[in-house]
Amino acid sequence: MFKYDKNKKKQLFRDIATQFYEKLNPQKKNKAYHKHSIIHRLDQRIQNGGNASNKNYFYQKLSKSNYELLRSIIIGSPQKLKTIKEEIEADQNIPAFFSGTNGNLKSTPFGEEVLEMFGYNNFRKSEKSRWLVENLDIPVCPYCNYEPLLIVPPKTLCDFDHFIPKVMAPYLSMSFYNLIPSCTICNQRYKGDKLAYIHPYSQSLDSIVEFSIKPDRVDFSSETFNIILSYRTGVEPSQVKNAQENLNLFKIVGRYNCELFIKEVKRLDSVQKAYPESRKMELLDEKLIGKIIIKDKCDLLRVIAETSSIPFNEDEAKREEKGKFKMDLAKDYFKIIV
Ligand SMILES: [Zn+2]
Repeated sequence: MFKYDKNKKKQLFRDIATQFYEKLNPQKKNKAYHKHSIIHRLDQRIQNGGNASNKNYFYQKLSKSNYELLRSIIIGSPQKLKTIKEEIEADQNIPAFFSGTNGNLKSTPFGEEVLEMFGYNNFRKSEKSRWLVENLDIPVCPYCNYEPLLIVPPKTLCDFDHFIPKVMAPYLSMSFYNLIPSCTICNQRYKGDKLAYIHPYSQSLDSIVEFSIKPDRVDFSSETFNIILSYRTGVEPSQVKNAQENLNLFKIVGRYNCELFIKEVKRLDSVQKAYPESRKMELLDEKLIGKIIIKDKCDLLRVIAETSSIPFNEDEAKREEKGKFKMDLAKDYFKIIV
């Protein structure tokens, strides 16, 4: 829902990507690559493969010019990964990684071999996956902004979604920008082997859609209202289409129309009733809310938001379960905050 490109310590994701490459390819004191590195496994395959093999053609391509392509695969941006995938698919000399049609893809033995070489299966159980989740510091699933992503040392309890499915492109199974920490529902139930439309490290849905309620005037004592997503004005039609496809893929509207969210709407309604404009004016005159001193209206709204568990800005909302939902409704629908 939001764009994630730096962690809480303001470290940029592209810098974390470089560190990730080094973690995946540790070197000994004499600069030789450790036997647990991708480069070591790649070199071994080249040595064992024989020159005539198509597989070897692919492995040599990865290792050429001091592993230039391998490095791009691990740290390249989402756009770069897309280009690499297109180039690899267009190269007739490389054997197929999968067979079958959309929604029912199956790895070929070569696809399995490449997946094993990149080491994704071992990665899930390793300290490196916890390192990655801790450094990315995405506490809530970036697709649904609803399920928490938990780290219970020594394990991470979240999934890693392959933005480009690993069955399609096993060589992207360990790419930094292709490993998105996400909840099991988004990853396994809804996305599976399909491609998503909006990459959470390069684009935000926040500027395109907002949560609202239909019908506009509702009796909150009944439950006859729907939570909807509406498109903000002035958004390009192509962006609307992409956002729609993405939201449909993860069944966001359906998932948000459950009891948990309906309760949240009622809670926000009661916050609004506790702070009508007249009460806000009184508090501004008193310059106090509880024991907290307030300087101006912005200050007042911030305190109301904080004491009512409503995120006040995007940075807060992206770190909180249901953050966008609560912020959008509090801003535009209930006008609790601005
Ligand atoms: Zn999710």
